[in-house]
Amino acid sequence: MPAPTMIRESKVMTDSPARTRYAPSPTGKTHLGNLRTAMFAWLLARHSGGQFILRIEDTDQTRLVEGAQAELMDAMRWLGLLWDEGPDLGGRGVPYVQSENLPAYGDAARNLVARGHAYYCDCTPERLDVVRKMQQQRGQPPRYDNHCRERGLGAGEGRVIRFKMPTEGVTICRDHLRGDTRFENALIGDPVILKSDQFPTYHLAVIVDDQRMAITHVLRGQEWLPSTPIHQQIYAAFGWQAPVWVHLPLVTDFQGKKIKKRDDGQGADEEYAKYVEMTRIDTLREKGYMPAAVMNFLAFLGWNPGTTEELFTPAELSAAFSLDRLSLSPAVFDVDRLDWFNQQHLRRLPPAELAAGALPYLKVAYPDAPRLDDSGWVDRLLGAVKEELITVGEVAEKTRFAFIDPVDYHGEVREHLQSAAAEIALNALREALPAEDAVSPETAEAIFKTMRAALKTSHNLGGKAIMQPLRAALTGVSGGPHLTDILVLIGAGAARRRLDQALTAVVTGAL
Ligand code: GLU
Repeated sequence: MPAPTMIRESKVMTDSPARTRYAPSPTGKTHLGNLRTAMFAWLLARHSGGQFILRIEDTDQTRLVEGAQAELMDAMRWLGLLWDEGPDLGGRGVPYVQSENLPAYGDAARNLVARGHAYYCDCTPERLDVVRKMQQQRGQPPRYDNHCRERGLGAGEGRVIRFKMPTEGVTICRDHLRGDTRFENALIGDPVILKSDQFPTYHLAVIVDDQRMAITHVLRGQEWLPSTPIHQQIYAAFGWQAPVWVHLPLVTDFQGKKIKKRDDGQGADEEYAKYVEMTRIDTLREKGYMPAAVMNFLAFLGWNPGTTEELFTPAELSAAFSLDRLSLSPAVFDVDRLDWFNQQHLRRLPPAELAAGALPYLKVAYPDAPRLDDSGWVDRLLGAVKEELITVGEVAEKTRFAFIDPVDYHGEVREHLQSAAAEIALNALREALPAEDAVSPETAEAIFKTMRAALKTSHNLGGKAIMQPLRAALTGVSGGPHLTDILVLIGAGAARRRLDQALTAVVTGAL
């Protein structure tokens, strides 16, 4: 039995500048699982002072989706995963789109044939189908039976080129996270490396390009682990040194299963479909999640800094990142966690940045509100609701009270207005309102303080009994910012109008 293929020393030490790449196939919508892979590759490049490369693997022309490449690049830019070399930027590995480099893969495949590592094969799909069925009947794993290996077909006779895998022994593949995995060579049929349309398969193109682009670390999903022995053998046949492989564990749903696509025809229920939507960058973008928070969340899907610290900016993440702290366990995609990260990042935003994020939403929801041009007022408004926001996309709903008078009163709000103290409290605030519209925070505070003290003495009313109907009348909702903030934001005029409207409803019983 031949000796197992030897593992050579890694191309580089893990702390010298790494050249990493993200190599997507533009076959569908970008989701967070894929971008997490891209992000870890980006973090390693940034951490080590190396380069991050974007390469488009479009060799399976049947699966291409129109517009997918542009959408993917847009998603990466949004998240902040900026590449140093790529289809739009060029670089030392031009071209960065595989379909633009077909002659190079053809030459590489023919070079392997010339040196006895590959051969032409003319097996038809029908023959391959028969072989597969026979193997199935015998309970054998499906593999090419190497029928053409010794036939010595010439270039004109073959449809495809296949690589000669060793037929016995094992190939041992070293993964930076998983250590060594042994693969029985006899179980792997000779794979196609050049197809009849002259396009390479993934196996050939990925190696030619990782070599051309001097990639030092390949970070990719664990589903590629079974391909690694083929890759290792192809590297050996070329006499090239393989990169460091890092196969990342899956991102799963709550049941620990691969997240199903909505269109998988398995009739995922509505709740699950919504959950899947949350793994799409365009959904998160639309809802107003912050790129830095999404990146922080993604980093913790499979990595941790080894401390209890959880909040990291992208720059802090790249400073702290290390391959050795990647985890091997599958990472569960948890929307509550994502919300938590976003909320924390949002709370830390400087007011000007919060305003810049919130204003587009506010302007769409309240197009005729002149106060949106008053930055002092906007900052006060956002400061008042900031703690309640999970995403900035919720801002229009949470600030409705500042723009629109309540239309009617429901549930708890209605109950508060039906309380014994409601009429007294509403009248008391109405009396206390100043004549001019603008109310300063000091005035608002003084109004409520005086009013509470007076109603305590005159009617023995506690704070809640007064404040709940007031909030109900002024906003029409039960939660929200402090009453003083509400009064300052809406002004005395709107407060008087809303109190009158609620008082009419209370007095006439039209609640
Ligand atoms: N084109 C492959 C994919 O879409 C890339 C795998 C790799 O990174 O080697 O997953």
